[in-house]
Amino acid sequence: MLIVHADRHRDHPTTRPMPGYGRGYPEVPDRVDRILAAVTAANLGTIVTPTDFGPGPIEAVHDAGLLAHLRTAFDASRGEVGDDDPYIPHTFAVRGRRPNSDAVPGVFGARAFDTGCPIFRGTWAVSYQATQAALTAADHVRTNGGCTYSLSRPPGHHAGPDFHGGFCYTNHAATAARYLQQTTGERVAILDIDYHHGNGTQEIFFDDPNVLFVSLHADPEVDYPFYWGFADERGAANLNLPLPHGTDDAAYLTALDDALARIRDFAPRYLVVSAGFDLMSGDPVPRNGGFRITIRGLRKIAERIAAQKLPTVIVQEGGYNLSRLGEYAVTLLRAFGPL
Ligand SMILES: [Zn+2]
Repeated sequence: MLIVHADRHRDHPTTRPMPGYGRGYPEVPDRVDRILAAVTAANLGTIVTPTDFGPGPIEAVHDAGLLAHLRTAFDASRGEVGDDDPYIPHTFAVRGRRPNSDAVPGVFGARAFDTGCPIFRGTWAVSYQATQAALTAADHVRTNGGCTYSLSRPPGHHAGPDFHGGFCYTNHAATAARYLQQTTGERVAILDIDYHHGNGTQEIFFDDPNVLFVSLHADPEVDYPFYWGFADERGAANLNLPLPHGTDDAAYLTALDDALARIRDFAPRYLVVSAGFDLMSGDPVPRNGGFRITIRGLRKIAERIAAQKLPTVIVQEGGYNLSRLGEYAVTLLRAFGPL
């Protein structure tokens, strides 16, 4: 298995104190380092750094205005905060308002939908490299089939066509899926198993019949991102399977079977998996305890996805239980052997 490791991720240094995150920001550099150590120790495959495919594939899913904003956001915000401090959007353009302010807080709030995305000096470069990692993994699958894994941070699935939020800046899974679809002319399915709904990915492909988006996630009635992820959001090829807090292995696997049946009906040539380990029991981010998925459950989830026998790109999304992330990644990837 090819594992693409985006090695610049420490330039998005979210371990620094940030206003509004008194209890600690959970999307930290150690996440990738812990997983890298575990997959290296487990000898799961060849580990490479990303190839740069240029901005074109990212521009195929994101609005030019969003990308221009992210590229310049650090410099543009220097008058608002000191020196190397991160800038955190704090005022948002809700419906009915006009998001056309020239003031820095207005510009930032028109692009972000929450306070989850601090802008550091290296943020753009790190998210760009994370997206290139997913592209590298996708290109390898396009040429060789099999399964690849893109190990990067920050995650991407909350970044939409012209907005970002939820720790996400650019959407790696969506970029990989669009790249596979455009370069081959084949249909692509995205399966999102992160605990949270992949609202950005959904919006990118909502009217597109060539890319199916299927997501299992916490019911937005009770958990983030609250305004997306309901079952009646159907689009051209979209299936949301919201699940209640406390969902256990058996209930999750039943929903997963529905998701995989929809994917088989769609008959894609490629599968992209948005893999967020915050679905696991004990993750610190979900509200009210989240799901109750065990390691045995994760193994079954992985086996059922792998049994589809589709060329598969696995993209790292969320997951914040640092002491367990490595074990989760190894468990997921082992199902996609041969090693
Ligand atoms: Zn998540």
